[in-house]
Amino acid sequence: MGARVRPIRSSETRDGHTVTTTPTAPAQAHVTPGAKRVDEETIRSIPKAEVHVHLEGTFELIDLIELARESGVPLPGPAATLFDLGTHFAPDTTDTIDAGSGVGTGGLSAFLRFLDWQCGLIRTPQQASALAYRFAARQSASGIRYTDVIVNPTHWSAWRGRVGDLLSALAEGFDEAERDGLCVINIAYSLLRTQSQDEATTIARWLVETRPSRVIALSVDGDERVAGRTAEKFAPAFDIARDGGLRRTIHAGESSGAEGVWDAIRHLHAERIDHGVRAIDDDELVAHLAETGIPLDVCLRSNLTLGVYPDLASHPLAELMRRGVTVTVNTDDPAPIGTRLENEWSLAADAYGWGLPQLIALAHASVTASFAPDALAAELHEAIDARALALGV
Ligand SMILES: [Zn+2]
Repeated sequence: MGARVRPIRSSETRDGHTVTTTPTAPAQAHVTPGAKRVDEETIRSIPKAEVHVHLEGTFELIDLIELARESGVPLPGPAATLFDLGTHFAPDTTDTIDAGSGVGTGGLSAFLRFLDWQCGLIRTPQQASALAYRFAARQSASGIRYTDVIVNPTHWSAWRGRVGDLLSALAEGFDEAERDGLCVINIAYSLLRTQSQDEATTIARWLVETRPSRVIALSVDGDERVAGRTAEKFAPAFDIARDGGLRRTIHAGESSGAEGVWDAIRHLHAERIDHGVRAIDDDELVAHLAETGIPLDVCLRSNLTLGVYPDLASHPLAELMRRGVTVTVNTDDPAPIGTRLENEWSLAADAYGWGLPQLIALAHASVTASFAPDALAAELHEAIDARALALGV
């Protein structure tokens, strides 16, 4: 595994709370004034994993135009501004997230409706496999060697009643990509926050009994503010998942506050929190995350686009890291948001003054946080160390 630096934990008292910090780990990257700027080409060259990206958020504009043409479906607006949802989908008045810009002008709920429209364009196994393969290729182009991709079948309207066929078609695309040496991808099957307890437990039981190829985890996503607190509703499904050997990653602390993160940990056996940034509002929770090492899968541009934070200066990423919380940096929905992983890492590096050592540590953290099989994870840690050596870190 090479000379990977292990975090050295230390504790200090802040505001009456004992805070555990891990000064040498990635997320513990403090602002480094004057650190040499790392360009995106170098970031692409660092082997890494991505753990918070939705397949529903990877349809490029050209994919949508071609799929709509194949299916004879009209576009909901002019092709050139298709990702500007504010022009096509009326804002939902129940959406309490502040409007951002571009794709977020309609807020999170309008964004989720857009995902429904575009996923409805995938109607054949060939289309699903091709989409999966193209995603793996794009991940590889960013230097991503392993991905836990979130798939929420409720968005894929053509596959109601035959979700197993959708998963098989996606797995075929991922299999073919792996055979071609592209990014290795496993699936986190995501429940929608508005699904019922019965639906959730039926799905969890089905996943554990049939173990669809490449499905490695159970997840929950969707708008927390519209659905309210749902952790107790989903607790039986996540009991089944844990007992059946499925990993768990939960969206929380984005459109909910810190209480959503506590719920995910206490009721859903969360091993990772997708977003989780609102944990910053609860000192006890921040200390708990630092102590347990439960990672927060942060997506900076998504948070800005959807108005969770108005700017990077007010975003809590750096403060969470300073207080010892393990953090990964991800894209969430790269196509409609208009980002790639190297852009996200570059954005963070520029904002917080990270140099190569911090980005190498971030790469290690991404692999450690991932659900990659042990052998692959070990191989990736070695590849990161080898790349670090070549870069003179
Ligand atoms: Zn997400």
